[in-house]
Amino acid sequence: MKNTIEAFGENVFGLAVMKQRLAASTFESLEKTIETGSELDAGIADEVAEAMKEWAMDKGATHYTHWFQPLTGATAEKHDSFIFPDFKGGIITKFSGGELIQGEPDASSFPSGGLRATFEARGYTGWDPTSPAFIKYAEDGAATLCIPTVFCGYHGEALDKKTPLLRSMKVLSEQVVRLGNLFGIDAGDNMAKATLGSEQEYFLIDEDLIAERPDVLQTGRTLFGKPSAKNQQLDDHYFGSIKGRVASFMADLDAELWKAGVPAKTRHNEVCPAQFEIAPVFETLNVSVDHNMMTMETLRAVAERHGFVCLLHEKPFAGVNGSGKHNNWSIMGPDGKNWFSPGDNPHENAKFMTLVVALMKAADTHADLLRVSVATAGNDHRLGANEAPPAVVSIFLGDQLFDVIEQIEQGGATESKQGGTIHLGVDLLPTLPRGNTDRNRTSPLAFCGNRFEFRAVGSNQNPAGANVVLNTIMAEALDAICSDVEKAMADGKAFTDALQDVLASVIKTHKRILFNGDNYTAEWLEEAARRGLPNLRNTEEALEVLKTEKAKALFSKYGVLSNEELESRYNTYTETYETIIAIEANTALEIAKTMIVPAVVTAISEYAEVEAAKPVADEMSALLTKTLEGIKALDAAEGAAAQIAAMDALRESVDALEAIVPADLWPMPSYSEMLLG
Ligand code: ADP
Ligand code: MG
Repeated sequence: MKNTIEAFGENVFGLAVMKQRLAASTFESLEKTIETGSELDAGIADEVAEAMKEWAMDKGATHYTHWFQPLTGATAEKHDSFIFPDFKGGIITKFSGGELIQGEPDASSFPSGGLRATFEARGYTGWDPTSPAFIKYAEDGAATLCIPTVFCGYHGEALDKKTPLLRSMKVLSEQVVRLGNLFGIDAGDNMAKATLGSEQEYFLIDEDLIAERPDVLQTGRTLFGKPSAKNQQLDDHYFGSIKGRVASFMADLDAELWKAGVPAKTRHNEVCPAQFEIAPVFETLNVSVDHNMMTMETLRAVAERHGFVCLLHEKPFAGVNGSGKHNNWSIMGPDGKNWFSPGDNPHENAKFMTLVVALMKAADTHADLLRVSVATAGNDHRLGANEAPPAVVSIFLGDQLFDVIEQIEQGGATESKQGGTIHLGVDLLPTLPRGNTDRNRTSPLAFCGNRFEFRAVGSNQNPAGANVVLNTIMAEALDAICSDVEKAMADGKAFTDALQDVLASVIKTHKRILFNGDNYTAEWLEEAARRGLPNLRNTEEALEVLKTEKAKALFSKYGVLSNEELESRYNTYTETYETIIAIEANTALEIAKTMIVPAVVTAISEYAEVEAAKPVADEMSALLTKTLEGIKALDAAEGAAAQIAAMDALRESVDALEAIVPADLWPMPSYSEMLLG
């Protein structure tokens, strides 16, 4: 069998292919744009487009598409073929620089949240040269060249998730480079880059069973279902040996992803039966986001080939673990080093501590924005359900780093837990446990030795949103810290003294965001309330954050989202949320009325004929009455909150019925069939 690792990047128009197929000067110019974020030289676009087309056609492609990420949270593509008539009855193939750089997919049906009036409904796509183009193959081999792009309105308004992401990466870079300058790091034109590795959880369920579950087909999750007696109690699935059919699915998945240049690295069974995880090696943030979107698409496609349905919903099954997307985020400085890694000398340590303190300030000031970045109808079922962090945002640093933070707060000269003292920028930090596995898994934002892991992101989300927030709030915090340090230095203070003072004062103000304990407990929620940390329990509450003056001021100051763009997101996400709940409510009604009630009626009439079975028939009758009342209440419910409450009530009687109605009469596959079959 062919070694699938050797095919890595085979379907990617990456630097190596570019070097081969472009003139040296063109390649250099493009490489500079990719590495430093400098503006693309429009003069090279024709040559790049031609080379891309030739390469893509060599690989069997007939079409190209600008591949983008609208506010739906999914990806979008509209294909155009390379053909053009020669006006003699034949064709030539053509792909111009103009077509590479900009597309006009119209796409007026995508949500714009009011950003576009219908008369200027057109959307425009623009090439993101920093994320490599790739070829996507359909099952029969039909191939399409996919060009990662942004998606904007006529006046450049961001209609997508990628535009603000790229903007936020730029403003973060500016502030990180500025901090670097204070530390005497001159990295020329180089940008700092945020990095991301997103661990993706998912469920694999047999497609024949899902075909009989209208709830999963329409909403991605089960709206009814009695928990199976055995589920995850024995922890016998987590990291368990991977069964044959799933193992071959995973091998196929990795092979596909590798060909497309996605560095899939880790795969394992997750906590719940039928639940799994795939994690890549981290990459530059925007590339990694694109790769996560490709991973989700590929998961679904490969699952289909193997007779599975891949469920990416945050909570497909009640009562067992749901799925998240741990967002491992760090900052690579303009020197190419990871600045969230404690350094080997006092100078690097001081830089590292500055970033940690900046993140404290950022997360405490904007805990509400971090919260709203993970607010979706699906994630509402997961956050705080004793398997994922609560809706309260806090930071875990671990005991040693916490101790160092306290020392800096007190002036940088007290005893460390490890013995000795620390003077910022003069002394070494105690050796911090790097990449330790024994870390706190209950914290929403946890330090992992060389990066922070934001654990509240939902499995089904485009990870861009959470990272837009991380980048922007971090840029703002660094901006403030650098300004204060620069001012103190202008007043004659030495750099390390100025930094020490500024960090001590930031720590004093924002220390309440640090929590090393168990975030799943009720005591923590009480403590968090005492500390004044926001607790936005659901999506409806969280979305209001997008309307605050604080949020508007932040995003507009750094040019990441204008007030109109921010408002459009509020409108879009609110509408999406309400629509999802309405679809769930209608699906639940349809199932209850046309599948559950008839099955229960049959069961009651069968049992009623047997004298000894009468008590069971009576019990079913009582529950049927409750179910019919539940249907009536759900039918009458208006608004998401009322619909959710009515769905929960209806589910209670339906699930109770599932426990007593004969299995062969129950109209849908059970939890045990789906999860353990
Ligand atoms: P765990 O399950 O213990 O959290 P995994 O190995 O499954 O660990 O996932 C860790 C993720 O963090 C991987 O995607 C890894 O590439 C990523 N990661 C490691 N270093 C960095 C970094 N500097 N920046 C961003 N992500 C990183
Ligand atoms: Mg992790």
